[in-house]
Amino acid sequence: MKINIAIDGPSAAGKSTIAKILAEKLHYAHLDTGAMYRCAAYHALHSGVNMSDEDALANMIRDMEIRFDPHGNVFVNDLDVTKQIRTNDISMHASNVSTYPKVRQELVAMQQEIAKNKGYIMDGRDIGTVVLPDAELKIYMVASTEARAQRRYKEYIEKNIVAQYDEIYRDIEKRDYQDSHRAASPLRKADDAVEIDTSNMTIDEVVEKISGLLDTIHR
Ligand code: C5P
Repeated sequence: MKINIAIDGPSAAGKSTIAKILAEKLHYAHLDTGAMYRCAAYHALHSGVNMSDEDALANMIRDMEIRFDPHGNVFVNDLDVTKQIRTNDISMHASNVSTYPKVRQELVAMQQEIAKNKGYIMDGRDIGTVVLPDAELKIYMVASTEARAQRRYKEYIEKNIVAQYDEIYRDIEKRDYQDSHRAASPLRKADDAVEIDTSNMTIDEVVEKISGLLDTIHR
């Protein structure tokens, strides 16, 4: 029987990378919920919606379509935004719009609807605490700020996105603070989540560790 797996943690801790690999290995679906907040920020920016207007943002989300294809590409109303939503600028805007309870309410409802039939690996900030409190396995993935900034920098360079290490480091610190201090669903470890510090672990080691935890769950 398929289960749901929640992976939460701060930015660039490796959540999406690991979730993608695990999903392929287990024949599960992967949902990157951060991409949904990024799509909301991107769409607001490009359609002139005031990013300080909570109601306008919630209405915009209700009227927009966010779609993922099987290759991990992301679309907003059929426009491919896969690369555009990964900039540092959109990261900060996503963190800002995610502070609004009505924005979260819209996106959380979409996420819960998607995962209701199980078989999902969902990564984000509030999956184990709010979106899927009944997920059978909850992981809380952390890593030092240095390790995360290095990874993000490498990722940007590989994707030909212009990037500066110092700026990435500062933005990660700022988003960590904002994501864990906001009033609505702040980033925090669910009581029943298993914490994994990936600072000195390879991707394979993390996948192995989670696979081991899965083996202990009665499925
Ligand atoms: O995971 P990612 O870095 O792509 O997320 C972008 C931003 O979206 C985060 O900084 C966070 O503020 C927000 N987010 C959230 N809840 C989630 C996923 C992401 O608030 N479940």
